[in-house]
Amino acid sequence: MDKVLVTGGAGFIGSHFVKRIIQAEDVTRVTVLDALTYAGHIENLGTAFLSDKLRFVHGDIRDAAIVDALMGDGTTAVVHFAAESHVDRSYAAADGFLSTNVLGTRVLVEAAHRHGVDRFVHVSTDEVYGPLVEGTATEEAPLCPTVPYAVSKAAGDLVALGAHRTLGLPACVTRSSNNYGPYQYPEKIIPLFVTRLLRGMPVTLHDRGQHVRNWLHVEDNCAGIEAVLRNGEAGEIYNLGGGTDLSSKELTGHLLAICDASWDAVTYIADRPANDVRYSIDWTKARDLLGYRPQHSLVDGLAETAEWYRRNPDRWAPLATAGPRTIQPSAPHPLLAPMEMPRGH
Ligand code: NAD
Repeated sequence: MDKVLVTGGAGFIGSHFVKRIIQAEDVTRVTVLDALTYAGHIENLGTAFLSDKLRFVHGDIRDAAIVDALMGDGTTAVVHFAAESHVDRSYAAADGFLSTNVLGTRVLVEAAHRHGVDRFVHVSTDEVYGPLVEGTATEEAPLCPTVPYAVSKAAGDLVALGAHRTLGLPACVTRSSNNYGPYQYPEKIIPLFVTRLLRGMPVTLHDRGQHVRNWLHVEDNCAGIEAVLRNGEAGEIYNLGGGTDLSSKELTGHLLAICDASWDAVTYIADRPANDVRYSIDWTKARDLLGYRPQHSLVDGLAETAEWYRRNPDRWAPLATAGPRTIQPSAPHPLLAPMEMPRGH
């Protein structure tokens, strides 16, 4: 694999992936390209940041000059995580989502093709299939996204797959279910609820908390993404599921127990528009062709995740006290203090 470019590598899933792939003997360099939006933090990279193999570039995937320079600098494989990723924000900020998730992907695939990279993995989501009342979506299911985030991801998938068809780019797409684990920005339900409950603060559930998601540990997703990177077939899509199906109310029950809180902490608020009732993917293709098999149990994984937030209050306390569940896109993000950004080493 040699020289891997990871976009969005300072985010939640991307940083776990960097910490994993940097240990591979056949990887000699990992370049992280990240714009460090409110969701990206160099600290997420941990000790990987100190590795001789790591090069961090503070930049935007829509910046064609930076992307071209990085692709042309010997990059052999690209794993593309960078995205605007929070559904709640996407309602009022759809243009930004389309810009990064679609146009940013286009900049990347064109540069990757120009410089002849051997492998391009576009990381996507089960939300592109839209809601399913029953059954599961295979990779052949039609795209039927509802919320602006999912629309932008579906369009990004088509950009990557189209580059395979028209340019011959060796691109694959992964579509995983909802991830959880340490280092997730606390606007998504699990870290948001944990960081609030640990401080004795209330949490809110949409409608009756009936929406079902499949919860996959982030390390299982990263293992699947590596399997696709190494052995996926160009032009193919791989669903990465196999976590645990839970309604948000059931998930809340687990989190209350872990955080030693009661249902008194829970209030119910009006549902957001088009809040998809259930996602479900069939992941037998990745299992049968790539040997993908999730390893983490939900109970242990949630406990380990909550423990991480408990042990790292300095990083998340300002956010946990910042406001209600739905963050307005225009609101300031009281994140970590600004830091000196290395531009590669
Ligand atoms: P995240 O929001 O935690 O991280 C996104 C990262 O991308 C951040 O580091 C951010 O700074 C960076 N970024 C954003 N815009 C950028 C730009 N224009 N240029 C360069 N960098 C930019 O997201 P995540 O949860 O880690 O998700 C990573 C990928 O996985 C996304 O593509 C997302 O759609 C997909 N995904 C996420 C989940 C999930 O449950 N979190 C599930 C399925 C798929």
